[in-house]
Amino acid sequence: MAIAVDVPRQYAQLFIGGSWIAPHSGRMISSIDPASEEVWALVAEADEVDVDRAVAAAREALRGPWARLTPTARGALLHKLGALITRDARTLAEIESRDNGKPLRDTIGEMQRAADWLTFYAGAADKIYGETIPYKPDAHAFTRREPVGVVGAILPWNSPMSLYAWKLGPALACGCTVVLKPAELTPVSAMELAKLVTEAGFPPGVVNVVPGYGHIAGAAIAAHPNVNKITFTGEHRTAQEIMKSAAVNLKRISFECGGKSPHIIFADADLDRAATVATHGAFRSTGQSCSLGSRLFVQRAVYDVVVDMLVQRAGRIRVGMPLDPTTHIGPQTSAVQLDKTNRYIQLGKDEGYRLLLGGKRPAGFERGYFVEPTIFGEVDNRSRLAQEEIFGPVLSVIPFDSEAEAVAMANDVVYGLVAGLWTRDIGRAHRVAAQLESGLVSVNTYRPVHWMLPYGGYKMSGIGRENGFDAVNEYLETKTVVIDYAEAPPPDPFAD
Ligand code: NAD
Repeated sequence: MAIAVDVPRQYAQLFIGGSWIAPHSGRMISSIDPASEEVWALVAEADEVDVDRAVAAAREALRGPWARLTPTARGALLHKLGALITRDARTLAEIESRDNGKPLRDTIGEMQRAADWLTFYAGAADKIYGETIPYKPDAHAFTRREPVGVVGAILPWNSPMSLYAWKLGPALACGCTVVLKPAELTPVSAMELAKLVTEAGFPPGVVNVVPGYGHIAGAAIAAHPNVNKITFTGEHRTAQEIMKSAAVNLKRISFECGGKSPHIIFADADLDRAATVATHGAFRSTGQSCSLGSRLFVQRAVYDVVVDMLVQRAGRIRVGMPLDPTTHIGPQTSAVQLDKTNRYIQLGKDEGYRLLLGGKRPAGFERGYFVEPTIFGEVDNRSRLAQEEIFGPVLSVIPFDSEAEAVAMANDVVYGLVAGLWTRDIGRAHRVAAQLESGLVSVNTYRPVHWMLPYGGYKMSGIGRENGFDAVNEYLETKTVVIDYAEAPPPDPFAD
């Protein structure tokens, strides 16, 4: 189905307690199409009052019909939601491409992956058990795995629908209820998701969707005394703010933050494969990915060869309109992000690094937040270009001599989300993987993100893990119950 572009789409109400409700302030968020720079959708904006309503609805649902469903029935609802996303994948992908600027070939894949994630956690819902613990005779000790409660899910703009599934899957499988705040830049697919939540048959209040600004709706969720847990994806500075607010009632937290991921190519690697994967790993999603391999370390003996391969491959990337099926990468999602990327490109030029490719607005794009894939060579690992998350298509290539030097430079950064290395030496693969300070290390591949694989950061890249069964544990409390059935009376410590 083609999407009409002349009149902005309207989502005038928030999704709270299973109903569509006008926002308290009456305000709307203008969502801008990053390819045309025009407002393409208007979305109801939640404030503190709306967040309060949504939290109340989520708390009510926690005690209501949702609590009485069997885990298998909860799983069936998640399954249904996944199937509905698959059914509507094409339309949802077009909407996401308009809102976020990602090309259709990516957003179609993201919809399918969102469904896959929900399906995985649908299967997990009735496989969450406690333990019996034989800690002494004449007692039955066991643990119950109980839902942590109301979850505030605060999301970024770079991969909206996938990340909703990363949060909703485990949270709902565990029996939690959710107040979901999409990013103000990309709120539209969350509104479509809310419609599918209703169609799937989730009881009212299990999922609530409150688009809004971070400092208003986001801050209200983080500080709300009836929210038990925050699951957040975004910048570490925002995570720090949320952590302070969450202290009010010692909320449980899991944070997925940024990265400046090292990708290391040793001289003995299959250079052809490494260069192909490294190019994709650096420029996918127009560089707007937390797991970007944006610091590429190349062993000096093969540095020039690899640089040539990178420039050749990155030079073939088709920058284009998001809805064009032949486009490889679209615009940046916002003017602010484009400006940030351009400032780092200028910094690289000012600091005298070798500009090997790109560095400007692509020809033929007068409007839209477009920028060319850009490669700087011989970058100093301590420079701001190599240390700070740009979130744009800018790759720093850094030469190294020894294995020890590569590991030291890879770890010399505040982040620790993803790392990759290419070698044919099995000993080195293990040695380096063990030493990298990173939540995910890939050898002879890059960033294998999958619903079965735990994902999350060391250091400033986050707290907790998403995906796999590790994510399930993030949404549970363990209650220990001890039943003493000894016939003999207990000794009385106060008897004498
Ligand atoms: P951001 O931190 O600016 O915003 C993320 C969310 O937080 C938004 O919904 C925003 O409205 C909200 N927010 C902002 N201020 C808030 C406050 N004071 N209190 C509560 N909520 C607040 O991040 P972004 O620019 O949307 O996303 C880009 C960042 O996300 C990058 O750093 C990227 O690396 C990271 N990211 C990480 C992962 C991961 O899995 N590790 C995945 C995607 C993106």
